[in-house]
Amino acid sequence: MGIRRWVRRDLPVEALSEPGRTVKTEVTLPATPAEVPAAQPATDWEALRAQVAACEKCALHASRTQTVFGTGDRNADLLIIGEAPGADEDRLGEPFVGRAGQLLDQMLLAAGFRRNQVYIANILKCRPPDNRNPAPDEILACSGYLASQISMLQPKAILSVGGVAATTLLETGQSVGKLRGEVHDFGESRIPLVVTYHPAYLLRKPAEKAKSWIDLQLLMRVLRGVA
Ligand code: URA
Ligand code: SF4
Repeated sequence: MGIRRWVRRDLPVEALSEPGRTVKTEVTLPATPAEVPAAQPATDWEALRAQVAACEKCALHASRTQTVFGTGDRNADLLIIGEAPGADEDRLGEPFVGRAGQLLDQMLLAAGFRRNQVYIANILKCRPPDNRNPAPDEILACSGYLASQISMLQPKAILSVGGVAATTLLETGQSVGKLRGEVHDFGESRIPLVVTYHPAYLLRKPAEKAKSWIDLQLLMRVLRGVA
């Protein structure tokens, strides 16, 4: 993996265009999550949000309407991690606002949470065209942002929804069906992580909702400290 260049957007235009003066407008950032310590380079939420909004680290920047950073309570105990924005999210700039999002809201309510009491983010901050699966290089390019979000949130538990989130977060090729039903440890701080099905999948296969409810009950036990 090479070093990618990140062009600062926050410099005044005059500084960039002033004749005869060299202004350093580029900083180099390491490209892989392994090289990017969790809370760097952004030092706070607004800096991170601005970085994501300006991000061109993967090809998805060219087709997005806007980035979808994440939403909710920055002091939440629970972090929900989905896959990537779809058409509705790309249009509105918020995660899980389409049909799948409505089902996620219902699932959360069943577990005792309103949407604004949790934090919701995705593996990718930009929409893959035609809702195709995220590509490995896109996941890698974007992973530092989610790592920073997790490190600032320090949630008590993570709910991973769908196959892409689970395989990315747990670095495994196993299916949701195999990964659900137990509590995993995420990262160095060993945040308890529960895997469940994606609500878009549940919309196609309503019979699987019963399993998701079992997953949510496991999550509630984790949050109560009894699992
Ligand atoms: N599906 C996801 O995984 N995330 C969203 O934000 C919307 C749909
Ligand atoms: Fe940047 Fe992530 Fe969007 Fe790619 S998906 S352009 S890495 S914010």
